[in-house]
Order: sequence, then structure tokens, then C-alpha cells
Amino acid sequence: MTRVAFIGLGNMGGGMAACQAKAQRAVSAFDLSAAAVEKALAAGCSAAGSVAEAVRDAEAVVTMLPAGPHVRSVYAEQVFPNAPAGALLIDCSTIDVESARAVAAQAREKGFRFADAPVSGGVAAAEAGTLAFMVGCDEADFAEVERVIAPMSRATIRAGDHGAGQAAKICNNMVLGASMIAVCEALALAEKLGLDPVKFHEISSQSSGQCWSLTSYCPWPGPVPAAPSNRDYEGGFATAMMLKDLKLAQEAAAKSGAAAPLGAQAEGLYALFEKLGYGGKDFSAILQLFRGQLP
Ligand code: NAD
Repeated sequence: MTRVAFIGLGNMGGGMAACQAKAQRAVSAFDLSAAAVEKALAAGCSAAGSVAEAVRDAEAVVTMLPAGPHVRSVYAEQVFPNAPAGALLIDCSTIDVESARAVAAQAREKGFRFADAPVSGGVAAAEAGTLAFMVGCDEADFAEVERVIAPMSRATIRAGDHGAGQAAKICNNMVLGASMIAVCEALALAEKLGLDPVKFHEISSQSSGQCWSLTSYCPWPGPVPAAPSNRDYEGGFATAMMLKDLKLAQEAAAKSGAAAPLGAQAEGLYALFEKLGYGGKDFSAILQLFRGQLP
């Protein structure tokens, strides 16, 4: 039985750890939130009292943390000093490319194998084990990374060497942020024009406006039952997280000299939405800004 340590049991990590347990792996789970650890326990994981305790006997360590600073400190202060030599370390958080490369270099120095393996798919896919993983790792390590990830994945693609997974994720989420705003603007316009937004969803889902934000994560309640729009935009992918990813994309664009004006617009709109007090709501809640219906 593979022994997996799982660190970070939030909206995404909770479902992912449960998939590992369902696959009959011995999962030792830790989060700063006691409620999150309780949920993991109910899903078949065992509860660890600290990161150090979780990783002590692990063959593989999976982390799903908010941002780069969390990943840097958890690895430097707790994973590296306590994980068994040779353990495979997989960070699935979305973070900046530099942090991913820095943690990979430290891991190599200390004799660990490391992969950045951010995911796409949202909370429903995390629970169903149908996420897409974009992996940056040494070619020789990929088969083992794929095996560890398998219970959580519908597609695992090696993007390249360390950092390449995060580069793919940042580009993907720039598309997601811009496409969600486009979908929200269109739904708000449909409503103003007297067109039933649910009918618009049906039509555009089968027309050239079709995209993931519309068909799998519809911001208008009703058409996609699993979408956060049906739960008052609770859970899901927080606006603050989307803003973090759009900032990462703009920083990367500025550093590399790429032009990304739509990504910049999306960042500005999500920054405004966060300032208005909606950083904790799912990012699809921005629909209400365009409808002029913020509570
Ligand atoms: P979340 O805030 O729900 O979960 C993060 C968890 O990490 C929290 O439970 C928090 O308590 C825990 N944590 C923070 N510091 C810790 C520490 N030092 N030790 C142990 N636990 C710690 O966030 P989430 O939505 O699950 O997102 C996690 C990552 O996945 C982010 O990088 C996000 O960008 C990315 N992501 C999220 C989604 C989504 O739809 N939510 C989709 C794809 C990628």
C-alpha cells in the first residue's frame, strides 16, 4: 500500500485526499484547520497532528496550499527536515514559477525527487478524481508522479522540466479569468435584452461561445447543478485565488515581455471585486457585478 502524506485539505485538497484514500492508499493528512482534518478523517484518511508527523513515513508527499510563500515555508521548514530520504514530493498548489523552481532545487540538493503539478478542474473534479494535472519534473520521475497522481486525475501531462507545470497553469488560468468575465458580461447583457439567460446558456453552449466557464461552471444558477452559482457562490474557486493567478500571469508577462492586455483587464476587474468585499466568494460571483446586483 502506498503511504501518502497530504498537506492542505481545503476546497481542493479535501476531495483530492479522499480520492487517495478511496484508492486504498494509507493517507496521513494535515491542515491548519481542525475542521478540514475532521473531514479527511471521515473520508478514510488518518489525521496527523503536524506536517512533520504526516510526512515522517511517507513514500509520497502531496501539498495543496494557497500560494508560493506557503509552499516555500512548508517545504523548507517541515517537509525537508522530516520526510524520509528519496520520498517523491508533489506540489499541486498554483504558485509562481520562481518558487516552484526554487523548491525543486532545494529538494534536489536534499536528495528528494520533486514535481510541480498544479491542477485544473475545480472542486467537483477534485472530489470525483477527474482533475487535469500539468507536471514539471525530471523526465525519469514522471512515471512515478503519474502513478501517485492517478486516483485524482483524468489527464496527467508532463509540461516539461521544473516550473513548466506552473507556467502552463498560469497561462490556463489567464484564459479562465478572461473567459469567465466574457461569459458573465454576455449573461448580464442577455438579461437586459429580455432573453432568458438559461435559454442563452443552452444556445451558446452549442454555438461558438461555448467554453468551460459557460458549460461546466455556469455563473447563472440552474443550468449546471454542480456549479457554485447554485450555492450562493460558496466553496469553489475563491475570487482571491483567481486574482492571485491573474497577478502571477501579469508578473510573468511583464518579466518575459509578453503582451497580455485581456489578462490585465481581468486582473483589474477581479481586484475591484475583491476590494468590494467578495474575495471569499467563488470567482463566478462576479456575474452580480455586471448585473448591478451585489448584495
Ligand atoms: P483553500 O484555501 O480552500 O485550501 C488551502 C488549505 O491550505 C486551507 O485549508 C489551509 O488551512 C491550508 N493551509 C495553509 N497553510 C497551511 C500550512 N502551513 N500547513 C497546512 N495547511 C495549510 O484553497 P483551495 O481552493 O483548496 O486551493 C488550493 C490551491 O489550489 C491554490 O493554490 C489554488 O490556486 C489552487 N486551485 C484551486 C482550485 C479551486 O477551484 N478551488 C482549482 C485549481 C487550483
